[in-house]
Amino acid sequence: MAFINPNGNDFDQYRKLVDSVTESMLEHLTDAYNKRTVPIHEVSFMESLPRIGIPSAQIVEGLQRVIEQSINVANPKYMGHMDSVPTLISCAGEFVSSLLNNNMLSIEMSPIFSKMETQVIKEIASFFGYDESSGGVMLSGGSLANLEALAVARNHAFSSLHKGLHSLEKQPVIFTSEAAHTSIQKAAMLLGLGTDAVIPISVNEDSQMDVKDLDQRIRSASKEGKAPFAIVATAGTTVTGSVDPILQISEIARRHNLWLHVDAAYGGALIFSNKHKNLLNGIENANSITFNPQKWMYIAKTCAMVLFKNGEILEQNFRITAPYMNDTVTTNIGEISVQGTRHAEILKLWLSLQQIGTAGYGQLIDHGLKMMELYRDEIKRRPYLQLSSKPQTNIICFRGISGGVPESLDNWNYRLQQHLIQEGNIFLSLPTYRGNRWLRAVLLNPFLNEDIILEVFDHIDNFYKRT
Ligand SMILES: *Cc1c(COP(=O)(O)O)cnc(C)c1O
Repeated sequence: MAFINPNGNDFDQYRKLVDSVTESMLEHLTDAYNKRTVPIHEVSFMESLPRIGIPSAQIVEGLQRVIEQSINVANPKYMGHMDSVPTLISCAGEFVSSLLNNNMLSIEMSPIFSKMETQVIKEIASFFGYDESSGGVMLSGGSLANLEALAVARNHAFSSLHKGLHSLEKQPVIFTSEAAHTSIQKAAMLLGLGTDAVIPISVNEDSQMDVKDLDQRIRSASKEGKAPFAIVATAGTTVTGSVDPILQISEIARRHNLWLHVDAAYGGALIFSNKHKNLLNGIENANSITFNPQKWMYIAKTCAMVLFKNGEILEQNFRITAPYMNDTVTTNIGEISVQGTRHAEILKLWLSLQQIGTAGYGQLIDHGLKMMELYRDEIKRRPYLQLSSKPQTNIICFRGISGGVPESLDNWNYRLQQHLIQEGNIFLSLPTYRGNRWLRAVLLNPFLNEDIILEVFDHIDNFYKRT
């Protein structure tokens, strides 16, 4: 029963398998509030792979152990990372995409999904202020989106699509803030520039790129004989959720004639909130944008995209036509993507957008920001807690500070994190920031409310009183 036989029989057999998997998932998820957020014992699954296949019912039983030992993003007390609880309809979309198993490589292999991807991407691009000339593709994550954006920027600046970089006399360099995502360095490494080509720009006390430092470093890099070609601004930094001053950065990019890429993998979703989209002012000037609906749009992983203000520049600086396609006039997605075969991630995004609506997404974003304000105020109310920076989105980074805390701060904060996991089933992450350990909350869960936040602070207070 490994395959669905197309003979029209055995419907009930297949349904039994699908129903039993669905049932255990729904039982697990509807009760997620009472389940562990993160496993507290060593995880285990099985001894070895069977030589002879085992019955489906037994497999589904074994699956239960995997489900129980997984990270539980459905519990609102899981608030440590940018992993959101996915919309149910996006998971249904994932299932349908998998069963249809079309290939985004070419139109021939995925006619409806190729069209859907191109159209939905255009519409999302228009939210960011791009016009009809925009282009873009979906990719399996923001790291790939950043890689592709910087590949196009590099090829555009140095005409390196065909001849590469060997004839360049100057070292190409990219400017991005100290708080930028590590995928920028990975991209520089993969693009043959090396990680040294990423020049870090200092940040202000709120973790935003310092535009004066940016301007200065561009000038001195040019004086030193380097070849600046791109600036990467971040909308929603990984540790503190900060948003760089994109408008000011876009003016500097224009003045120095540099490509501006905005890594809005996380913060891009703010564009759907009328109340908060001003944080992204200037993003319409970017040459390219990374955006991950798998984060703040609650789409099952993976779901990410790279958008280009000018789709022609993407074509001219990235497209490799495939000889096995019968149509070389229309662009197949695989020709303008760093990935080849990919499944139809667009379906789950399209379905979720239909169910929630763009205004509904705005409400989800607003809820996250409201939760951040409550959380922030609870921190401010306690003199023994300190904020890392002024939180701008739904990410909040804080720690306990001395006074009543005798031992080393890092160790105290580590023990607080463990206490929250053990005693409260609350998961916060523990990033290193400015050389120290901090606690970080990502307030994504739509079921997060004031009561849960107060519960978190009760546990923090208890720990504080005990130490
Ligand atoms: C998440 C994130 C990335 C990386 O995206 P992946 O999907 O993990 O590859 C890059 N930049 C920022 C700002 C992010 O938040």
